[in-house]
Amino acid sequence: MRLFQQIDPRTFVYRVDARGRLIAVNDAWLAFAAENDWPIAVGDIIGRPLMDFIADEHLRYLYGLLMGRLRAGRGPLRFRYRCDAPDARRHMEMLMLYDKTEREIEFQSRVVRIERRSPQDLLRIDHPADERRLDICSSCKRVDLGQQWVEVEDAVIRLRLFESELLPRTRHSICPDCAKDLAGLAKSGPASSSRPAASRRA
Ligand SMILES: [Zn+2]
Repeated sequence: MRLFQQIDPRTFVYRVDARGRLIAVNDAWLAFAAENDWPIAVGDIIGRPLMDFIADEHLRYLYGLLMGRLRAGRGPLRFRYRCDAPDARRHMEMLMLYDKTEREIEFQSRVVRIERRSPQDLLRIDHPADERRLDICSSCKRVDLGQQWVEVEDAVIRLRLFESELLPRTRHSICPDCAKDLAGLAKSGPASSSRPAASRRA
């Protein structure tokens, strides 16, 4: 029997120093990365700027705002996001804490709930791709259709991707709703982002 909802009790932790460089990551985080087709060694992470791992410029800017807010002593910060797999919608929660003594920021994320779904090839890292491009929001995992951002399943139908062998290449960015939420959190914290990403419909 396949459970609709599964529990993952792990907390995934990484920590950055005053210069924004990664100084620690826990075993659960490394295991989670490997499970998501990103088998990275601890030696490839430690000492590198966190921003090296955030592809989208706007999202880097927003993370900079959030970290600035924490360092100003106005934390902790908490927000919801999605970290999906091809066959699962994973609803996550991030907690950002500031260690004033060490001047370090700790990022703790955990799975709030998991919904199984039929596998979405578009979310596979190695899917056969053509020249088309599709933006996926790093935070809510919706897909940019130009006029609106929709769930991957809706994008596949609207773009008739189920008919094609080759799929667009995907790239991570940030949708206007999530950008607004994160910017609002950076300005107003310490409050929780109350609107779960999953409930948003375009
Ligand atoms: Zn979004």
